Amino acid sequence: MALELPSAPKVGMVSLGCPKALVDSERILTRLRADGYSMSADYQGADVVLVNTCGFLDSAKEESLAAIGEAIAENGRVIVTGCMGNEAEVIRTRFPQVLAVTGAHQYEAVVEAVHQAAPPELSPYLDLIPQAAADERGIKLTPRHYSYLKISEGCNHACAFCIIPQLRGKLASRRIDAILREAEKLVASGTRELLVISQDTSAYGVDIGHEPRDFHGTPVRAHMTDLARELGGLRAPDGQRPWVRLHYVYPYPHVDAVIPLMAEGLLTPYLDIPFQHASPSVLRAMKRPANEAKVLDRLRKWREICPDIAIRSSFVVGFPGETEADFQYLLDWLDEAQLDRVGAFRFEPVEGATANVLPDAVPEEVKEERYARIMEKTAAISAAKLAAKVGRVLPVIIDEVGEPDEDGDIGATGRSQADAPEIDGAVYLRQVDSSTAPGDIVEVLIEDADAHDLYGAVVTT
Ligand code: SF4
Repeated sequence: MALELPSAPKVGMVSLGCPKALVDSERILTRLRADGYSMSADYQGADVVLVNTCGFLDSAKEESLAAIGEAIAENGRVIVTGCMGNEAEVIRTRFPQVLAVTGAHQYEAVVEAVHQAAPPELSPYLDLIPQAAADERGIKLTPRHYSYLKISEGCNHACAFCIIPQLRGKLASRRIDAILREAEKLVASGTRELLVISQDTSAYGVDIGHEPRDFHGTPVRAHMTDLARELGGLRAPDGQRPWVRLHYVYPYPHVDAVIPLMAEGLLTPYLDIPFQHASPSVLRAMKRPANEAKVLDRLRKWREICPDIAIRSSFVVGFPGETEADFQYLLDWLDEAQLDRVGAFRFEPVEGATANVLPDAVPEEVKEERYARIMEKTAAISAAKLAAKVGRVLPVIIDEVGEPDEDGDIGATGRSQADAPEIDGAVYLRQVDSSTAPGDIVEVLIEDADAHDLYGAVVTT
């Protein structure tokens, strides 16, 4: 039976006012779309209605209040944003039932209010943000010290197990200047780590002809390498370089160009490449992009240029038609590839995917057995790679600081550059300074390791 997918909550939008307000509405909707919401063209179909108000003139205020009244009468679940949000008292006095009032340009606050009013249900088949980030109310907005930076929506491929292109459409890249401005604002307001996400990061800009835009007086192309270089040039207010992590990178030839940026320290030496399999016949059946034989050679070359590069990937076992020989090929390939982080999934048919009608389904017990074998293999590789880090001093970003124990010692949890939040391992610090805060980047002497995590202590300077 095909897996049923959760339906996206629907947001209605009434946008009043000047062109700037319209741009705000578009930004809010883009952000909500990236978070898995769909749009409703009418009041009745919406789970929540956003009214983006104008407060410039008295007549505009009256128009805004009338629009709020109409939305409440027609739908009842209303969030007010925009210029008139600065007069929250006026709105609340007249319409005590509004769910939230936020001011102009308060994108995070309005998106958070929508998440509260209509939490989206995450699906591992549709969403880029890791599942562990979900709490019972839906997507947990990321802590201030790391942020996801979505660069495009949709996908031009047709992988047999995936329905993203049907649901989200063809690749639609954001303008490079808009992405860079967003990144700049995030870094200025406390983000220490940017996680670049899309369905296919290597394809960024293909749909818009890599159109250049002016950014601080220089033309920058809508291309992954230009994007990576510009993001690598950002600085936090204290002068530190934020970590910049690339996710969902397919190994197209131009990916080679970002590896030197990692070696130079502009980009975090980490690539998330969803290989999904290694056997050529399974990859063909999956209709995977960038499915080429020389990947192992390229991994070797990347490691020569940037020895610390961490490669993360995910794999599907039990895809229809996968034979024992295909699976063994994958295990042997993993021995060669020595990937740092691996997630594995048992194939499940997703409603609407073309893979559902492929012959030679793999029996459930065979899937389970293969899953156990790949997990065992990748855990052993990970354990050996982490053991090799014992004795080294590595930069670690702090995620959480604990409470003092009975001796007054404070522990903390962080991540090395090889660990993306939520999906990879952690670095456990046995003692940190009481002034340590999430987002701090500290130097840590690695003292111990297990299959997935590292343990160590801050090096005092
Ligand atoms: S590349 Fe394949 S798996 Fe990824 S979103 Fe596109 S169709 Fe889906």
